[in-house]
Amino acid sequence: MKIIDAHMHLSHITSFKETAECRSFVDYSVEGLLREYAENGVVLGIGMGVTETAPGGFPDQESSTPMGLDMVQSYPQQIVCCLGVNPFKLDQAGLDALEKALQRPETVGIKIYLGYYPYYAYDDVYQPVYELAKQYKAPVVYHTGDTYSERGLLKYSHPLTVDEVAVTHRDVNFMIAHFGDPWVLDGAEIVYKNRNVFADLSGLMVGDAAECARLKDSPLFFTHLRHALTYCDHYEKMLFGTDWPLAPVQPYLQFVQELIPEAFHADVFYKTALRVFPKIAPFVE
Ligand SMILES: [Zn+2]
Repeated sequence: MKIIDAHMHLSHITSFKETAECRSFVDYSVEGLLREYAENGVVLGIGMGVTETAPGGFPDQESSTPMGLDMVQSYPQQIVCCLGVNPFKLDQAGLDALEKALQRPETVGIKIYLGYYPYYAYDDVYQPVYELAKQYKAPVVYHTGDTYSERGLLKYSHPLTVDEVAVTHRDVNFMIAHFGDPWVLDGAEIVYKNRNVFADLSGLMVGDAAECARLKDSPLFFTHLRHALTYCDHYEKMLFGTDWPLAPVQPYLQFVQELIPEAFHADVFYKTALRVFPKIAPFVE
């Protein structure tokens, strides 16, 4: 089975480097990622752009829009990018730079960091971004749920805040990263109710293979997630993602394989990514 990783990172930010060193023990480099991909049949990774201007700065209000994958010098065939948006840098220059970068073949979407940056999804500040998304047929990925930084503000990252945008911009596709975890039942309702909202199952646990196995096999740790997936009843709108470097590819892949009924594996691990990110087609053919 060919696999697409719909959510990973290749950014020089301190928190990812520390996680790789102290918790997941992955080789946090382009080569390290491509090695794990080759070993596990992953043919493409969609990187979520994020940068910081000083070590430990993320979420950084000084980073310029768009934020790309600053660890990637030249894009190999297996890596594409969603451009990160800093709402503090969305003046005309920022929007022009975002539009120009959207025209590159390796740019397949836009990433908005709800909770890391203190704006709701429906805030006016993001409206020009949604217009660009519509114009370039680019999906918008939102960070939703727990923030991987205690400087985040959770009220902005609740998945319910995506509903109004999904209704207002029916012709744009949205992907709620992490399914809104821990508010996955709310995430399930947003996905169930809106035809243009999808969810990725990345970042639901952090650590090395042993830690992933411990959490995966815990009787209660993922009860809320199983409940939400069952309630949503739209497995075909879920996408596999690792949030690498937060966890190695293999144990995370095994976790999602066990979580999703086999009848939907082709959708979750491959086909739905092509629906949500149409620009990736030439990279996986
Ligand atoms: Zn992520």
